[in-house]
Amino acid sequence: MFRSPRRTARLKGGHMPGTLRVGVIGTGNIGRGHARRIAELTPNAALVAVSDLDAASAGAVAEKYGARREKDPLRLIAAPDVDAIIISSWDRTHEEYAVSCLESGKYVLCEKPLAVSPEGCGNIMAAEIKGGRRLLDVGFMRRYENGYAQMKRAIDGGAVGNPLIVHAQHRNKRPQGEKHTTEMTARASLVHEFDIVRWLLGDEYESVQLVCPRKSRHADPDLADPQVVYLRTRGGVCVDLEMFMNAWYGYDLQCEVVGEEATIRLPDPANLVWRKDGFCGREVFPSWSQRFESAYETEIREWARHALLGRPDGPCAWDGYMASLTGELAVRSLRERRVVEFPEECRPEFYR
Ligand code: NAP
Repeated sequence: MFRSPRRTARLKGGHMPGTLRVGVIGTGNIGRGHARRIAELTPNAALVAVSDLDAASAGAVAEKYGARREKDPLRLIAAPDVDAIIISSWDRTHEEYAVSCLESGKYVLCEKPLAVSPEGCGNIMAAEIKGGRRLLDVGFMRRYENGYAQMKRAIDGGAVGNPLIVHAQHRNKRPQGEKHTTEMTARASLVHEFDIVRWLLGDEYESVQLVCPRKSRHADPDLADPQVVYLRTRGGVCVDLEMFMNAWYGYDLQCEVVGEEATIRLPDPANLVWRKDGFCGREVFPSWSQRFESAYETEIREWARHALLGRPDGPCAWDGYMASLTGELAVRSLRERRVVEFPEECRPEFYR
């Protein structure tokens, strides 16, 4: 595909409408899917380069979509024919690659968690603020899911009245990917809950406590499973979250907001209803990848559209920082067996 150098310069600086040339770092479970969404499902976007420690995985994705394989992710970020980058490599690589993208003045969609510590998220925010314009979205794709979006509209529209209580459950069939430990689950898996509840309520957290009930016999020795998190927001909403990695029956999310005027509940995703062998019911999706396919498609499409407009509009680095801070304080509350208060809000003006 031909791209004039002039157009590249204008996209970086002045954001001419055109084609967004995307590079993907990390072509594992989620990165492969994002590469496909860019190549096949996103108007005005093209997959031009991919990079992964696993040469075979990157090579297969590159060949399938007519992109090139870059051995070094930092070279992919610096490449003049790459306008925007998706970071979907391991959690601990996110900070270095995100900072590098921001220093290169390129748009970036960084998978959650934004970094493995609040300090790492702080370094990313500092790099973005130094560059002087918003370039980074965080991959909190639940915000693009239809059911959560309906809940958000209902709350913002006022028909629910003041939210009072949130009950939410995040149940996995079994842990996937890297070996899960107690603190890693609190830091990396619960970030989706921490973000979506904060976003639904438009409120910040005031205190947190993570507690563990009796452990499921199905859990690995290093994982306290399930976990329960109690949060209180500055606006006075009480939130209880359950995270269960070994639910065994499927990947299941529930969310209920109790308000002054109404109670609303996240709809189950549409799926075939079976009547068979004396039972009537619907299959529960086996994992997040099926449950959220349409949300990922919307997320990638909206990210590319806003990057082309020069106006990133998704979850920002501050949201990534707040989710990471919540995980960190939740872990502290578990270690110290007490409720932990959040520090005074210190949101930089840039993210207001
Ligand atoms: P995965 O299947 O293990 O894929 C990660 C890939 O990144 C692997 O191929 C790995 O190569 C590669 N990699 C590791 N370090 C790298 C580096 N320094 N440079 C380039 N490539 C590197 O993991 P995944 O499940 O796709 O998860 C990837 C990221 O997405 C994680 O941050 C995870 O938290 C996030 N995630 C988000 C969601 C969501 O719902 N938004 C869902 C799942 C995962 P090797 O295998 O050779 O080491």
